[in-house]
Amino acid sequence: MTTTDTASFTVRRAEAALTPSLPPFGQFIGGAFVASSSTATVDVENPATEEILMQVPSGSVEDVDAAVAAAVAAKADWAARTPKERSSVLLRIADIIEANRELLETLEAANTGKPAAVAEDDISSAIDTFRFSAGATRAFTTPGADDYAQNHTSVILREPVGVVGVITPWNYPLLMAAWKIAPVLGAGNTLVLKPSEQTPLTTLKLAELIASEIPAGVLNIVTGPGRVVGNRLSEHPDVDLVAITGSVGSGQKVAASAASTVKRVHLELGGKAPVVVFDDADLEAAAKGVREAGFWNGGQECGAACRVLVHESVAEKFTELLVREVSDITVGAPGAGDDVEIGSMISGDHYKRVLAALDDLRKEGLTIAVGGNALEGPGYFIEPTVVTDVPAGAAIASTEIFGPVVSVETFSTEEEAITRANETVYGLAASVWTTNAARSLSVPRRLDFGTVWVNSHLVIANEMPWGGFKGSGYGRDLSTYALEDFSRTKHVMYNCG
Ligand code: NAD
Repeated sequence: MTTTDTASFTVRRAEAALTPSLPPFGQFIGGAFVASSSTATVDVENPATEEILMQVPSGSVEDVDAAVAAAVAAKADWAARTPKERSSVLLRIADIIEANRELLETLEAANTGKPAAVAEDDISSAIDTFRFSAGATRAFTTPGADDYAQNHTSVILREPVGVVGVITPWNYPLLMAAWKIAPVLGAGNTLVLKPSEQTPLTTLKLAELIASEIPAGVLNIVTGPGRVVGNRLSEHPDVDLVAITGSVGSGQKVAASAASTVKRVHLELGGKAPVVVFDDADLEAAAKGVREAGFWNGGQECGAACRVLVHESVAEKFTELLVREVSDITVGAPGAGDDVEIGSMISGDHYKRVLAALDDLRKEGLTIAVGGNALEGPGYFIEPTVVTDVPAGAAIASTEIFGPVVSVETFSTEEEAITRANETVYGLAASVWTTNAARSLSVPRRLDFGTVWVNSHLVIANEMPWGGFKGSGYGRDLSTYALEDFSRTKHVMYNCG
Protein backbone atom coordinates (compact mmCIF):
# COMPACT_ATOMS: atom_id res chain seq x y z
CA MET A 1 0.00 0.00 0.00
CA THR A 2 1.14 3.50 -0.75
CA THR A 3 -0.38 6.58 0.84
CA THR A 4 0.33 9.64 -1.26
CA ASP A 5 -1.56 12.46 0.39
CA THR A 6 -1.02 14.38 3.59
CA ALA A 7 -4.60 15.58 4.08
CA SER A 8 -5.70 15.26 7.66
CA PHE A 9 -9.32 14.93 8.60
CA THR A 10 -10.97 15.50 11.95
CA VAL A 11 -14.57 15.14 13.05
CA ARG A 12 -16.17 18.50 13.70
CA ARG A 13 -18.53 18.13 16.66
CA ALA A 14 -21.82 19.91 17.36
CA GLU A 15 -21.75 22.51 20.12
CA ALA A 16 -25.04 21.30 21.55
CA ALA A 17 -26.49 17.79 21.52
CA LEU A 18 -29.42 17.18 19.14
CA THR A 19 -32.75 16.88 20.95
CA PRO A 20 -34.92 14.87 18.59
CA SER A 21 -38.64 14.45 19.14
CA LEU A 22 -39.07 10.67 19.33
CA PRO A 23 -42.06 8.67 18.06
CA PRO A 24 -44.37 6.64 20.34
CA PHE A 25 -43.33 3.11 21.31
CA GLY A 26 -45.32 0.39 19.55
CA GLN A 27 -46.40 -0.98 16.20
CA PHE A 28 -48.59 1.27 14.05
CA ILE A 29 -51.48 -1.00 13.13
CA GLY A 30 -55.06 -0.09 12.20
CA GLY A 31 -54.48 3.64 12.69
CA ALA A 32 -52.95 3.59 16.19
CA PHE A 33 -49.78 2.61 18.03
CA VAL A 34 -50.43 -0.77 19.66
CA ALA A 35 -48.32 -3.16 21.73
CA SER A 36 -46.29 -5.79 19.90
CA SER A 37 -47.03 -9.43 20.64
CA SER A 38 -43.29 -9.71 21.34
CA THR A 39 -41.62 -8.22 24.41
CA ALA A 40 -38.23 -8.19 22.68
CA THR A 41 -36.88 -4.78 21.64
CA VAL A 42 -34.20 -3.36 19.36
CA ASP A 43 -31.92 -0.52 20.47
CA VAL A 44 -31.92 2.41 18.06
CA GLU A 45 -28.61 4.24 18.15
CA ASN A 46 -27.30 7.66 17.23
CA PRO A 47 -24.26 6.53 15.19
CA ALA A 48 -22.50 9.88 15.56
CA THR A 49 -22.47 9.67 19.38
CA GLU A 50 -23.11 5.94 20.04
CA GLU A 51 -25.96 6.91 22.39
CA ILE A 52 -29.15 4.86 22.40
CA LEU A 53 -32.00 7.09 21.25
CA MET A 54 -34.83 4.71 22.14
CA GLN A 55 -35.96 1.13 21.77
CA VAL A 56 -38.55 -0.15 19.32
CA PRO A 57 -40.37 -3.48 19.31
CA SER A 58 -38.56 -6.38 17.71
CA GLY A 59 -41.75 -7.40 15.94
CA SER A 60 -43.13 -10.88 15.41
CA VAL A 61 -44.96 -12.91 12.79
CA GLU A 62 -48.17 -12.20 14.78
CA ASP A 63 -47.55 -8.44 14.48
CA VAL A 64 -47.25 -8.76 10.71
CA ASP A 65 -50.41 -10.88 10.56
CA ALA A 66 -52.33 -8.24 12.56
CA ALA A 67 -51.03 -5.45 10.31
CA VAL A 68 -51.89 -7.37 7.13
CA ALA A 69 -55.39 -8.06 8.51
CA ALA A 70 -55.81 -4.30 9.11
CA ALA A 71 -54.60 -3.56 5.56
CA VAL A 72 -56.99 -6.16 4.12
CA ALA A 73 -59.91 -4.66 6.09
CA ALA A 74 -59.11 -1.16 4.78
CA LYS A 75 -58.55 -2.29 1.17
CA ALA A 76 -62.03 -2.03 -0.38
CA ASP A 77 -62.84 1.43 0.95
CA TRP A 78 -59.47 2.91 -0.06
CA ALA A 79 -59.58 1.32 -3.51
CA ALA A 80 -63.09 2.70 -4.07
CA ARG A 81 -61.98 6.29 -3.52
CA THR A 82 -61.49 8.38 -6.64
CA PRO A 83 -57.98 9.42 -7.68
CA LYS A 84 -58.95 12.96 -6.66
CA GLU A 85 -59.76 11.82 -3.12
CA ARG A 86 -56.56 9.78 -2.76
CA SER A 87 -54.56 12.62 -4.26
CA SER A 88 -55.88 15.07 -1.67
CA VAL A 89 -54.67 12.74 1.12
CA LEU A 90 -51.17 12.65 -0.44
CA LEU A 91 -51.13 16.44 -0.67
CA ARG A 92 -52.12 16.67 2.98
CA ILE A 93 -49.26 14.30 3.91
CA ALA A 94 -46.82 16.52 1.98
CA ASP A 95 -48.11 19.58 3.86
CA ILE A 96 -47.70 17.81 7.22
CA ILE A 97 -44.12 16.78 6.41
CA GLU A 98 -43.38 20.35 5.36
CA ALA A 99 -44.90 21.76 8.56
CA ASN A 100 -42.71 19.35 10.57
CA ARG A 101 -39.62 19.65 8.39
CA GLU A 102 -37.21 20.68 11.11
CA LEU A 103 -38.43 18.01 13.52
CA LEU A 104 -38.04 15.29 10.87
CA GLU A 105 -34.62 16.53 9.72
CA THR A 106 -33.32 16.49 13.29
CA LEU A 107 -34.73 13.05 13.98
CA GLU A 108 -33.33 11.66 10.71
CA ALA A 109 -29.89 13.17 11.38
CA ALA A 110 -29.88 11.82 14.95
CA ASN A 111 -30.76 8.31 13.79
CA THR A 112 -28.36 8.17 10.83
CA GLY A 113 -25.47 10.53 11.64
CA LYS A 114 -26.03 12.30 8.32
CA PRO A 115 -25.15 16.00 7.95
CA ALA A 116 -27.77 18.76 7.84
CA ALA A 117 -27.44 19.22 4.06
CA VAL A 118 -28.34 15.57 3.40
CA ALA A 119 -31.15 15.43 5.98
CA GLU A 120 -32.61 18.61 4.52
CA ASP A 121 -32.44 17.24 1.00
CA ASP A 122 -34.05 13.96 2.13
CA ILE A 123 -37.05 15.71 3.67
CA SER A 124 -37.46 18.16 0.75
CA SER A 125 -37.34 15.24 -1.69
CA ALA A 126 -39.90 13.29 0.36
CA ILE A 127 -42.30 16.27 0.26
CA ASP A 128 -41.86 16.49 -3.51
CA THR A 129 -42.46 12.74 -3.90
CA PHE A 130 -45.86 13.05 -2.19
CA ARG A 131 -46.76 16.15 -4.26
CA PHE A 132 -45.67 14.53 -7.52
CA SER A 133 -47.56 11.31 -6.74
CA ALA A 134 -50.66 13.32 -5.84
CA GLY A 135 -50.66 14.93 -9.29
CA ALA A 136 -49.67 11.78 -11.13
CA THR A 137 -52.45 9.80 -9.42
CA ARG A 138 -55.02 12.07 -11.10
CA ALA A 139 -53.28 12.33 -14.45
CA PHE A 140 -52.67 8.59 -14.75
CA THR A 141 -55.19 7.36 -17.32
CA THR A 142 -55.54 4.26 -19.47
CA PRO A 143 -56.02 4.01 -23.27
CA GLY A 144 -59.53 4.84 -24.51
CA ALA A 145 -62.07 2.10 -25.12
CA ASP A 146 -62.13 0.67 -28.66
CA ASP A 147 -63.31 -2.27 -30.73
CA TYR A 148 -60.52 -4.77 -31.48
CA ALA A 149 -62.80 -7.73 -32.37
CA GLN A 150 -65.99 -7.63 -34.44
CA ASN A 151 -68.89 -6.31 -32.31
CA HIS A 152 -66.78 -6.30 -29.15
CA THR A 153 -65.69 -3.22 -27.22
CA SER A 154 -62.61 -3.43 -25.03
CA VAL A 155 -62.09 -1.38 -21.89
CA ILE A 156 -58.99 -1.40 -19.70
CA LEU A 157 -59.61 -1.03 -15.98
CA ARG A 158 -56.67 0.03 -13.85
CA GLU A 159 -56.98 -1.48 -10.39
CA PRO A 160 -54.88 -1.47 -7.23
CA VAL A 161 -52.85 -4.63 -6.67
CA GLY A 162 -54.28 -4.95 -3.14
CA VAL A 163 -52.11 -5.14 -0.02
CA VAL A 164 -48.47 -4.16 -0.61
CA GLY A 165 -45.63 -5.17 1.74
CA VAL A 166 -42.78 -2.65 1.77
CA ILE A 167 -39.28 -3.21 3.22
CA THR A 168 -36.94 -0.20 3.45
CA PRO A 169 -33.18 0.31 4.06
CA TRP A 170 -31.29 2.57 6.47
CA ASN A 171 -29.51 5.01 4.15
CA TYR A 172 -32.47 7.32 3.43
CA PRO A 173 -35.06 6.04 5.92
CA LEU A 174 -37.92 8.51 5.40
CA LEU A 175 -37.19 9.18 1.73
CA MET A 176 -37.16 5.49 0.78
CA ALA A 177 -40.44 5.07 2.71
CA ALA A 178 -41.91 8.06 0.82
CA TRP A 179 -40.81 6.62 -2.53
CA LYS A 180 -43.03 3.62 -1.79
CA ILE A 181 -45.89 5.01 0.35
CA ALA A 182 -46.80 7.79 -2.12
CA PRO A 183 -47.29 5.70 -5.31
CA VAL A 184 -48.60 2.64 -3.43
CA LEU A 185 -51.38 4.70 -1.80
CA GLY A 186 -51.89 6.82 -4.93
CA ALA A 187 -52.57 3.67 -6.96
CA GLY A 188 -55.22 2.66 -4.39
CA ASN A 189 -53.41 -0.04 -2.41
CA THR A 190 -53.10 -0.37 1.34
CA LEU A 191 -49.71 -1.23 2.80
CA VAL A 192 -47.64 -2.68 5.61
CA LEU A 193 -44.15 -1.19 5.84
CA LYS A 194 -41.14 -2.60 7.68
CA PRO A 195 -38.39 -0.01 8.20
CA SER A 196 -34.75 -0.98 8.71
CA GLU A 197 -34.12 -2.15 12.28
CA GLN A 198 -31.41 0.53 12.57
CA THR A 199 -33.49 3.51 11.38
CA PRO A 200 -37.21 3.17 12.09
CA LEU A 201 -37.71 6.52 13.85
CA THR A 202 -38.76 8.95 11.10
CA THR A 203 -41.10 6.38 9.54
CA LEU A 204 -42.80 5.86 12.92
CA LYS A 205 -42.90 9.64 13.42
CA LEU A 206 -44.52 10.10 10.02
CA ALA A 207 -47.21 7.59 11.02
CA GLU A 208 -47.83 9.53 14.23
CA LEU A 209 -48.05 12.84 12.36
CA ILE A 210 -50.42 11.67 9.62
CA ALA A 211 -52.52 9.18 11.62
CA SER A 212 -55.60 11.40 11.66
CA GLU A 213 -55.35 12.10 7.91
CA ILE A 214 -55.48 8.55 6.58
CA PRO A 215 -58.19 5.94 7.16
CA ALA A 216 -57.24 3.30 9.75
CA GLY A 217 -55.44 0.32 8.23
CA VAL A 218 -54.42 2.03 4.98
CA LEU A 219 -50.83 2.46 6.23
CA ASN A 220 -49.35 0.14 8.86
CA ILE A 221 -45.78 0.06 10.21
CA VAL A 222 -44.21 -3.01 11.84
CA THR A 223 -40.67 -2.74 13.21
CA GLY A 224 -38.36 -5.73 13.64
CA PRO A 225 -35.76 -7.92 11.99
CA GLY A 226 -35.75 -8.65 8.28
CA ARG A 227 -35.59 -12.40 8.73
CA VAL A 228 -38.81 -12.32 10.86
CA VAL A 229 -40.94 -9.32 9.89
CA GLY A 230 -39.59 -8.89 6.34
CA ASN A 231 -39.78 -12.58 5.64
CA ARG A 232 -43.39 -12.86 6.90
CA LEU A 233 -44.40 -9.94 4.67
CA SER A 234 -42.76 -11.70 1.72
CA GLU A 235 -44.49 -15.03 2.27
CA HIS A 236 -47.87 -13.82 3.64
CA PRO A 237 -50.74 -15.16 1.52
CA ASP A 238 -52.75 -11.91 1.85
CA VAL A 239 -49.91 -9.67 0.70
CA ASP A 240 -50.31 -9.21 -3.06
CA LEU A 241 -46.98 -7.53 -3.85
CA VAL A 242 -43.77 -7.14 -1.87
CA ALA A 243 -41.33 -4.30 -2.58
CA ILE A 244 -37.86 -4.10 -1.05
CA THR A 245 -35.12 -1.51 -1.25
CA GLY A 246 -31.98 -3.13 0.11
CA SER A 247 -29.02 -5.34 -0.65
CA VAL A 248 -28.94 -8.01 -3.35
CA GLY A 249 -28.89 -10.80 -0.74
CA SER A 250 -32.03 -9.51 1.00
CA GLY A 251 -33.75 -9.05 -2.37
CA GLN A 252 -32.99 -12.66 -3.31
CA LYS A 253 -34.46 -13.89 -0.01
CA VAL A 254 -37.60 -11.78 -0.47
CA ALA A 255 -38.09 -13.03 -4.02
CA ALA A 256 -37.61 -16.66 -2.89
CA SER A 257 -40.15 -16.28 -0.04
CA ALA A 258 -42.59 -14.49 -2.34
CA ALA A 259 -42.46 -17.36 -4.82
CA SER A 260 -44.54 -19.63 -2.56
CA THR A 261 -47.62 -17.43 -3.09
CA VAL A 262 -46.63 -16.24 -6.59
CA LYS A 263 -46.95 -12.64 -5.47
CA ARG A 264 -45.51 -9.79 -7.44
CA VAL A 265 -42.04 -8.59 -6.41
CA HIS A 266 -40.48 -5.13 -6.81
CA LEU A 267 -36.71 -5.01 -6.17
CA GLU A 268 -34.51 -1.91 -5.76
CA LEU A 269 -31.14 -3.39 -4.85
CA GLY A 270 -27.48 -2.43 -4.67
CA GLY A 271 -25.25 -0.65 -7.13
CA LYS A 272 -21.66 0.09 -8.07
CA ALA A 273 -21.92 3.04 -10.41
CA PRO A 274 -19.14 3.55 -12.96
CA VAL A 275 -18.12 7.12 -13.78
CA VAL A 276 -16.57 7.07 -17.25
CA VAL A 277 -14.30 10.10 -17.79
CA PHE A 278 -13.13 10.51 -21.40
CA ASP A 279 -10.04 12.42 -22.51
CA ASP A 280 -12.25 15.22 -23.86
CA ALA A 281 -14.10 15.72 -20.55
CA ASP A 282 -14.10 18.87 -18.44
CA LEU A 283 -11.86 17.30 -15.80
CA GLU A 284 -12.51 19.90 -13.13
CA ALA A 285 -16.26 19.42 -13.45
CA ALA A 286 -15.82 15.64 -13.34
CA ALA A 287 -13.68 15.84 -10.17
CA LYS A 288 -16.22 18.13 -8.50
CA GLY A 289 -19.00 15.79 -9.65
CA VAL A 290 -17.29 12.81 -7.99
CA ARG A 291 -16.68 14.80 -4.80
CA GLU A 292 -20.42 15.48 -4.56
CA ALA A 293 -21.89 12.25 -5.90
CA GLY A 294 -19.25 9.83 -4.61
CA PHE A 295 -19.36 11.08 -1.03
CA TRP A 296 -23.00 12.18 -0.67
CA ASN A 297 -24.44 10.53 2.46
CA GLY A 298 -20.93 9.27 3.22
CA GLY A 299 -21.02 7.10 0.09
CA GLN A 300 -23.87 5.09 1.66
CA GLU A 301 -25.82 5.56 -1.54
CA CYS A 302 -26.83 2.91 -4.07
CA GLY A 303 -26.11 5.25 -7.01
CA ALA A 304 -22.87 6.70 -5.57
CA ALA A 305 -20.20 7.74 -8.06
CA CYS A 306 -17.80 5.24 -6.50
CA ARG A 307 -15.96 3.68 -9.44
CA VAL A 308 -14.10 6.03 -11.79
CA LEU A 309 -12.87 4.77 -15.16
CA VAL A 310 -10.70 7.52 -16.64
CA HIS A 311 -8.86 7.66 -19.97
CA GLU A 312 -5.17 6.93 -19.41
CA SER A 313 -4.03 10.15 -21.11
CA VAL A 314 -5.82 12.34 -18.53
CA ALA A 315 -5.67 9.99 -15.54
CA GLU A 316 -2.84 11.79 -13.77
CA LYS A 317 -4.43 15.21 -14.12
CA PHE A 318 -7.89 13.94 -13.13
CA THR A 319 -6.55 12.07 -10.08
CA GLU A 320 -4.70 15.18 -8.92
CA LEU A 321 -7.91 17.23 -9.19
CA LEU A 322 -9.97 14.55 -7.44
CA VAL A 323 -7.48 14.19 -4.57
CA ARG A 324 -7.49 17.96 -4.13
CA GLU A 325 -11.30 18.02 -4.02
CA VAL A 326 -11.55 15.11 -1.58
CA SER A 327 -8.80 16.44 0.71
CA ASP A 328 -11.02 19.45 1.26
CA ILE A 329 -14.14 17.53 2.40
CA THR A 330 -15.54 18.52 5.80
CA VAL A 331 -16.37 15.63 8.12
CA GLY A 332 -18.66 16.26 11.07
CA ALA A 333 -21.47 15.21 13.35
CA PRO A 334 -25.05 16.34 12.76
CA GLY A 335 -25.50 19.84 14.12
CA ALA A 336 -21.86 20.76 13.42
CA GLY A 337 -22.74 23.19 10.62
CA ASP A 338 -24.41 23.40 7.23
CA ASP A 339 -21.07 22.97 5.43
CA VAL A 340 -20.44 19.45 6.80
CA GLU A 341 -20.33 17.05 3.85
CA ILE A 342 -19.79 13.65 5.47
CA GLY A 343 -21.29 12.28 8.66
CA SER A 344 -20.83 8.93 10.36
CA MET A 345 -21.36 5.43 9.01
CA ILE A 346 -24.75 4.05 9.98
CA SER A 347 -23.63 1.55 12.62
CA GLY A 348 -20.65 -0.05 14.33
CA ASP A 349 -21.08 -3.16 12.18
CA HIS A 350 -21.11 -1.22 8.93
CA TYR A 351 -18.11 0.88 10.07
CA LYS A 352 -16.18 -2.37 10.67
CA ARG A 353 -17.22 -3.67 7.22
CA VAL A 354 -15.93 -0.52 5.47
CA LEU A 355 -12.66 -0.59 7.46
CA ALA A 356 -12.21 -4.28 6.60
CA ALA A 357 -12.65 -3.40 2.90
CA LEU A 358 -9.95 -0.73 3.27
CA ASP A 359 -7.65 -3.30 4.91
CA ASP A 360 -8.21 -5.63 1.96
CA LEU A 361 -7.22 -2.85 -0.44
CA ARG A 362 -4.02 -2.33 1.51
CA LYS A 363 -3.26 -6.07 1.39
CA GLU A 364 -3.80 -6.01 -2.39
CA GLY A 365 -1.14 -3.28 -2.60
CA LEU A 366 -3.43 -0.59 -4.03
CA THR A 367 -2.55 3.09 -3.62
CA ILE A 368 -4.62 5.04 -1.14
CA ALA A 369 -4.14 8.55 -2.48
CA VAL A 370 -6.10 10.23 0.29
CA GLY A 371 -7.89 9.07 3.47
CA GLY A 372 -8.19 5.38 4.23
CA ASN A 373 -8.48 5.48 8.02
CA ALA A 374 -10.99 5.50 10.84
CA LEU A 375 -11.49 8.83 12.60
CA GLU A 376 -11.63 9.38 16.30
CA GLY A 377 -14.88 8.55 18.08
CA PRO A 378 -17.34 8.64 19.57
CA GLY A 379 -19.25 7.67 16.47
CA TYR A 380 -18.43 5.68 13.39
CA PHE A 381 -16.50 8.14 11.23
CA ILE A 382 -14.19 7.20 8.34
CA GLU A 383 -11.99 9.50 6.26
CA PRO A 384 -13.07 10.26 2.69
CA THR A 385 -10.87 7.98 0.63
CA VAL A 386 -9.59 7.77 -2.95
CA VAL A 387 -7.93 4.56 -4.14
CA THR A 388 -5.88 4.80 -7.34
CA ASP A 389 -3.99 2.55 -9.77
CA VAL A 390 -6.76 -0.03 -9.51
CA PRO A 391 -6.09 -2.80 -12.06
CA ALA A 392 -8.80 -4.24 -14.32
CA GLY A 393 -10.74 -6.96 -12.56
CA ALA A 394 -9.84 -5.83 -9.00
CA ALA A 395 -12.45 -6.71 -6.37
CA ILE A 396 -13.06 -3.06 -5.48
CA ALA A 397 -14.32 -2.43 -9.01
CA SER A 398 -17.25 -4.77 -8.53
CA THR A 399 -17.94 -4.96 -4.77
CA GLU A 400 -20.30 -2.47 -3.15
CA ILE A 401 -18.37 -0.92 -0.20
CA PHE A 402 -21.17 1.55 0.61
CA GLY A 403 -18.85 3.98 2.36
CA PRO A 404 -16.74 7.10 1.57
CA VAL A 405 -14.44 5.25 -0.83
CA VAL A 406 -13.94 6.05 -4.52
CA SER A 407 -11.66 3.97 -6.74
CA VAL A 408 -9.91 5.07 -9.95
CA GLU A 409 -9.10 2.75 -12.88
CA THR A 410 -7.80 3.71 -16.33
CA PHE A 411 -8.76 2.63 -19.86
CA SER A 412 -7.28 3.18 -23.30
CA THR A 413 -10.17 2.96 -25.78
CA GLU A 414 -13.88 3.80 -25.80
CA GLU A 415 -14.67 0.16 -26.46
CA GLU A 416 -12.67 -0.92 -23.42
CA ALA A 417 -14.37 1.72 -21.25
CA ILE A 418 -17.83 0.45 -22.19
CA THR A 419 -16.90 -3.23 -21.71
CA ARG A 420 -15.28 -2.62 -18.33
CA ALA A 421 -18.10 -0.33 -17.09
CA ASN A 422 -20.60 -3.10 -17.90
CA GLU A 423 -18.46 -5.78 -16.18
CA THR A 424 -20.40 -5.73 -12.92
CA VAL A 425 -23.32 -7.70 -11.53
CA TYR A 426 -25.06 -4.38 -10.81
CA GLY A 427 -26.99 -2.24 -13.27
CA LEU A 428 -28.41 0.67 -11.30
CA ALA A 429 -26.65 3.85 -12.43
CA ALA A 430 -23.64 5.18 -14.36
CA SER A 431 -22.32 8.47 -15.68
CA VAL A 432 -20.37 9.55 -18.73
CA TRP A 433 -18.19 12.68 -18.78
CA THR A 434 -17.38 14.05 -22.23
CA THR A 435 -17.65 17.22 -24.34
CA ASN A 436 -17.98 15.19 -27.54
CA ALA A 437 -21.64 15.40 -28.62
CA ALA A 438 -21.59 12.19 -30.67
CA ARG A 439 -20.06 10.25 -27.78
CA SER A 440 -22.57 11.69 -25.32
CA LEU A 441 -25.33 10.17 -27.45
CA SER A 442 -23.78 6.82 -28.33
CA VAL A 443 -22.10 5.69 -25.09
CA PRO A 444 -25.16 5.91 -22.76
CA ARG A 445 -27.08 3.62 -25.11
CA ARG A 446 -24.43 0.92 -24.68
CA LEU A 447 -24.26 1.09 -20.88
CA ASP A 448 -26.33 -1.50 -19.03
CA PHE A 449 -27.71 0.70 -16.24
CA GLY A 450 -31.19 1.95 -15.39
CA THR A 451 -30.01 5.58 -15.16
CA VAL A 452 -27.13 7.10 -17.14
CA TRP A 453 -26.14 10.72 -16.55
CA VAL A 454 -24.04 12.73 -18.99
CA ASN A 455 -21.71 15.29 -17.34
CA SER A 456 -23.60 14.87 -14.08
CA HIS A 457 -24.22 12.21 -11.43
CA LEU A 458 -26.91 11.51 -8.82
CA VAL A 459 -29.41 14.15 -9.93
CA ILE A 460 -32.85 12.64 -9.35
CA ALA A 461 -36.25 13.98 -10.42
CA ASN A 462 -39.61 12.69 -9.23
CA GLU A 463 -40.93 12.77 -12.82
CA MET A 464 -38.28 10.28 -14.00
CA PRO A 465 -38.01 6.57 -13.11
CA TRP A 466 -35.36 5.16 -10.77
CA GLY A 467 -34.44 1.49 -10.82
CA GLY A 468 -31.93 -1.03 -12.01
CA PHE A 469 -31.08 -3.81 -14.42
CA LYS A 470 -29.32 -7.11 -13.69
CA GLY A 471 -28.38 -7.65 -10.02
CA SER A 472 -29.75 -4.23 -9.06
CA GLY A 473 -33.24 -5.67 -9.41
CA TYR A 474 -36.38 -4.80 -11.31
CA GLY A 475 -39.28 -2.48 -10.75
CA ARG A 476 -39.24 1.29 -10.89
CA ASP A 477 -39.55 3.92 -8.18
CA LEU A 478 -40.69 7.50 -8.89
CA SER A 479 -42.52 8.73 -12.02
CA THR A 480 -45.70 7.22 -13.45
CA TYR A 481 -43.77 3.94 -13.89
CA ALA A 482 -44.04 3.45 -10.09
CA LEU A 483 -47.81 3.93 -10.27
CA GLU A 484 -47.83 1.37 -13.08
CA ASP A 485 -45.80 -1.08 -10.99
CA PHE A 486 -48.21 -0.78 -8.06
CA SER A 487 -51.33 -1.24 -10.24
CA ARG A 488 -52.82 -4.10 -12.21
CA THR A 489 -54.66 -3.83 -15.51
CA LYS A 490 -57.84 -5.70 -16.33
CA HIS A 491 -59.29 -6.09 -19.79
CA VAL A 492 -63.10 -6.08 -19.91
CA MET A 493 -64.65 -6.92 -23.28
CA TYR A 494 -68.31 -6.15 -24.05
CA ASN A 495 -70.25 -8.05 -26.71
CA CYS A 496 -72.15 -5.30 -28.51
CA GLY A 497 -73.45 -7.48 -31.32
P1 NAD B 1 -30.34 -4.74 3.81
O1 NAD B 1 -30.60 -5.61 2.65
O2 NAD B 1 -29.48 -5.21 4.89
O3 NAD B 1 -31.72 -4.35 4.51
C1 NAD B 1 -32.78 -3.75 3.77
C2 NAD B 1 -34.08 -4.14 4.42
O4 NAD B 1 -34.30 -5.54 4.15
C3 NAD B 1 -34.08 -3.97 5.94
O5 NAD B 1 -35.33 -3.47 6.35
C4 NAD B 1 -33.87 -5.40 6.42
O6 NAD B 1 -34.40 -5.63 7.69
C5 NAD B 1 -34.63 -6.18 5.37
N1 NAD B 1 -34.26 -7.60 5.27
C6 NAD B 1 -33.06 -8.16 5.53
N2 NAD B 1 -33.13 -9.50 5.36
C7 NAD B 1 -34.39 -9.78 4.97
C8 NAD B 1 -35.09 -10.98 4.65
N3 NAD B 1 -34.51 -12.17 4.70
N4 NAD B 1 -36.39 -10.89 4.28
C9 NAD B 1 -37.00 -9.69 4.22
N5 NAD B 1 -36.41 -8.54 4.55
C10 NAD B 1 -35.12 -8.57 4.91
O7 NAD B 1 -29.86 -3.36 3.20
P2 NAD B 1 -29.38 -2.07 4.01
O8 NAD B 1 -28.04 -2.42 4.55
O9 NAD B 1 -30.46 -1.59 4.92
O10 NAD B 1 -29.28 -0.99 2.85
C11 NAD B 1 -28.18 -0.92 2.03
C12 NAD B 1 -28.45 -1.62 0.71
O11 NAD B 1 -29.61 -1.08 0.11
C13 NAD B 1 -27.32 -1.41 -0.26
O12 NAD B 1 -27.05 -2.60 -0.96
C14 NAD B 1 -27.91 -0.36 -1.21
O13 NAD B 1 -27.31 -0.35 -2.47
C15 NAD B 1 -29.33 -0.73 -1.25
N6 NAD B 1 -30.17 0.42 -1.65
C16 NAD B 1 -30.71 0.44 -2.91
C17 NAD B 1 -31.48 1.52 -3.33
C18 NAD B 1 -32.08 1.56 -4.72
O14 NAD B 1 -32.86 2.45 -5.00
N7 NAD B 1 -31.77 0.62 -5.59
C19 NAD B 1 -31.70 2.59 -2.46
C20 NAD B 1 -31.14 2.54 -1.18
C21 NAD B 1 -30.38 1.44 -0.79
